[in-house]
Amino acid sequence: MSFLHVYSLNKIKMKMKRTLIGELSSLKGEKVEINGWIHVTRDQSKMVFCDIRDRSGKVQGVVFGKPEVLEIAKTLKAEYVVAMTGMVNARPEKAVKEGVVNGDIELEITSITVLNEAATTPYDLTEDSLGKDEEVRLKHRSLDLRTERMQRNIRVRSEFVKRCRDFLMERDFCEIETPLLTESTPEGSRDFVVPSRHNPGKFYALPQSPQQYKQLLMNAGFERYVQIARAIRDEDLRADRGYEHTQIDVEMSFVEQSDVMDIIEEMIVTTVEAMGHTVKQKPFPRVTYAESMEKYGADKFDMRTDDDKENKVLAYAWVIDFPFFEKTDKGTWTFTHNPFSMPKAEFIEDLMKGENIENILTTQYDLVCNGYEAGGGSIRAHKPEIIEAVYKVMGNTPEETQEKVGHMLEAFKYGTPPHGGIALGVERSVMNLTGEESLREVQAFPMTRKGQTAVMNAPKALEIEQLIELGISVKKADDK
Ligand code: ASP
Repeated sequence: MSFLHVYSLNKIKMKMKRTLIGELSSLKGEKVEINGWIHVTRDQSKMVFCDIRDRSGKVQGVVFGKPEVLEIAKTLKAEYVVAMTGMVNARPEKAVKEGVVNGDIELEITSITVLNEAATTPYDLTEDSLGKDEEVRLKHRSLDLRTERMQRNIRVRSEFVKRCRDFLMERDFCEIETPLLTESTPEGSRDFVVPSRHNPGKFYALPQSPQQYKQLLMNAGFERYVQIARAIRDEDLRADRGYEHTQIDVEMSFVEQSDVMDIIEEMIVTTVEAMGHTVKQKPFPRVTYAESMEKYGADKFDMRTDDDKENKVLAYAWVIDFPFFEKTDKGTWTFTHNPFSMPKAEFIEDLMKGENIENILTTQYDLVCNGYEAGGGSIRAHKPEIIEAVYKVMGNTPEETQEKVGHMLEAFKYGTPPHGGIALGVERSVMNLTGEESLREVQAFPMTRKGQTAVMNAPKALEIEQLIELGISVKKADDK
């Protein structure tokens, strides 16, 4: 692992006296100033060796022969912040470390300014963080993020998102933000709610996804929408699921199922190949839900062989032809994926008549990668009567449907184009790209396993004044 693996040095040169450490190897024989952190130091009495680190990489520095510099060098400790000047010297051939950034040079340090001191860190940041106590890592997350592993993961994430966004922007997608304070939606999970000071007793909900807004944007004529959107769901936490995740959220007008799948597939292949990964099978196999259940006993699966795993191959597949509805515990019908989906054409009549419900298939498509559900979407019902029929199957009276999705029915009266879209989970994609097994390794500030925020203390009780202002009274757990 090296920082430079994902780091491309600034193409735009800034006029700064500071040189990035990752560039030093091309500056042999020159005098430079570097800024960064002390990674490790080794005091050998007449000489001090230290590795210095910045965002672009590490370099070995050495101090000798200059008593006043040596004196400062002896005070340096791990994570001190320093500015140093020095000569970039080529290493003798025998001492060259092949394949290591700056393995062919050494910095002969001629001056040191300590910009800031550092207390002893809660654990050694030069060691791999995975074996460390996660609570400690999360409490001191800004330190944990200094480690090579986390620098890599967060930079891989940034690069993945940038490449996907660029791909879409080059194809006429418009990036549009949708509200964070919104209405409780019928999308499946529990909502996180936010009280309204001006409307005591009333609540906003944080979005589980921008689903309805992105469909309204199709109604608005944008035709191609993208948002790197936060989705917030009050679900049970798992290794690959947190309360908050980010999705590359897409919606397109005048498309059929294969149009959305094709463009997303091209985006994924272009992006991950540019990032140095191999895709097992192109085009991605398309597997029906029934086949998937029969073969793998699940609707997500891992098609990699042991060799593929060794070679970090990415095995993508699409799953299609899901049932639209499933039975709830109460024996009523609910949607399997998305209430706004269009059934497959041959089942529209059944839906409209409310017949053959258990066999109706939806236009939903899920993207599976290495055992994870990496994304999902569908072609949507763009006619109000189809949405009404779906809500009727789910046991709603016309009034209840109106209450729940009246705003969609109203908007869709005025010439809504056929449309469809998808959302790709950023964390799960980055987990596959980095080989991480927990979502917390690819988010900068994830929650703990128990849903406490890293670093800051949430959730926490509010001051009584705040509660009064919001019109909220709280029962203590033991009053319930
Ligand atoms: N709203 C869906 C989700 O968040 C994705 C989609 O259908 O576009 O899973």
